[in-house]
Amino acid sequence: MADHPTTGDIPTLRAQRESGAQTARAVVDRYLERLQARRDLNSYVLVAEDDARTAAEDVDAGNRPGPLAGVPLAIKDNILVEGQPCTCGSRMLDGWVAPYDATAVARLRAAGAVFLGKTNCDEFGMGSSNENSYFGPAKNPIDPSRVTGGSSGGSAAAVADGQAMAAIGSDTGGSIRLPASYCGVIGLKPTYGAVSRWGLVAFASSLDQIGVLARTVDDARSVFHVIRGHDPRDATSRTDPPIHEETRPRRIGLLREYLEEGLDPDIRAAVLKVADALKEQGHDIVDASLPSARYALQTYYIICCAEASSNLARYDGVKYGYRTGNAAELIDMFEQTRDQGFGDEVKRRILLGSYVLSAGYFDQYYGTAQRMRQAIISDYTRAFVEVDCLLTPTAPNCAFPIGEKLDDPLTMYLVDVYTTSVNLAGLPGLSFPCGAIGGLPIGAQLIGRPMEEDLLLDLAGQVYESVRPTITLASE
Ligand code: GLN
Repeated sequence: MADHPTTGDIPTLRAQRESGAQTARAVVDRYLERLQARRDLNSYVLVAEDDARTAAEDVDAGNRPGPLAGVPLAIKDNILVEGQPCTCGSRMLDGWVAPYDATAVARLRAAGAVFLGKTNCDEFGMGSSNENSYFGPAKNPIDPSRVTGGSSGGSAAAVADGQAMAAIGSDTGGSIRLPASYCGVIGLKPTYGAVSRWGLVAFASSLDQIGVLARTVDDARSVFHVIRGHDPRDATSRTDPPIHEETRPRRIGLLREYLEEGLDPDIRAAVLKVADALKEQGHDIVDASLPSARYALQTYYIICCAEASSNLARYDGVKYGYRTGNAAELIDMFEQTRDQGFGDEVKRRILLGSYVLSAGYFDQYYGTAQRMRQAIISDYTRAFVEVDCLLTPTAPNCAFPIGEKLDDPLTMYLVDVYTTSVNLAGLPGLSFPCGAIGGLPIGAQLIGRPMEEDLLLDLAGQVYESVRPTITLASE
């Protein structure tokens, strides 16, 4: 990205603030200016100008010290920020205002961060392109005729375009890593339970995880270190400490199943270049295999739909958001509210989920998927006896044209082919740009053992400068 006034990173910002070279308020003003000038990208569904300016002035007054003092962040619109609307990209929650901060948001606030607004996403996180948003698609800042990836598309676009220094997103089956890959930024999906899900609107609770999008590996780490940690309000939050050993040569497995069969040769070459760069840093590159990986996508779509059908039962027009205006009977009110409030993809998933959970099909679909999930977990456990982490592509392609896959849900689901197994096994995954095809970034993915995010960040940090592509924004 060329040097426009919002390209700095967190350490630079801190140094400039501490030396008095610039105020938090001035920085936030520049970011607000940038995002207002680029509203055509549709990355934000809500801009919180007044809150952001007040928070920045508070930083300047010395009231909000902390590791992220004055850092302008964007928050995906399925994560609660107290007093701000939270729509989840859905008509169903249009106008609903969050009554409290998500734990991740509260921690960022306590660390001094400034929230610029809420970013666009696929409805309730269901999608791979951000086209399933009630507010229209976010557009890729590198080529606005293309998708950002989803579902955290607005977060990725905002970070890539300099409309936020970093962002928070959620990843249920790839929703941080995929848009990070398509927009050319870093995306970290932490271990399941490493970051509290309190205040993240549930899509598929056994898979959902909050994580970070940033422009540098160090910035991703700084934000992650603030949001991670045990939270008694999330029963699935982990209590064990993160693992971070000193730097030493590691064994890195090239995941065979994710590099074969029809993978675009340019993408394979870019990932192998990352392997070479890691080798140069003294690491061993070995072959690795996850025999059950080929079933991950089907397994994921059964489990996520089943859980979504249950989680989304609460949207009935009684408590939250949208309610139809013209129903005679209570049952009509439920039906019409859900019919009018949800978009097509959400309805598709509720139907699929109800089907796979129904009495006659439960074992055939949901039961099989749970057994497959266990097989995938066992495969990873076996692989991690031999290797310290795995290297794969993030996605089988680069950002595709808006509209291209809209009529064919199956080809849309296929872009998640390399990301979903990581959620099924609850592991950390990190995507970083490692090349480009025709100016469009390619993402490499590192997958680690539970709680070893710092190792993934260390490894990416060692090679990122040598493999990162030059990315030109459409605005340059
Ligand atoms: N694209 C996947 C889906 O549509 C993953 C979404 C996500 O991670 N929230 O379910």
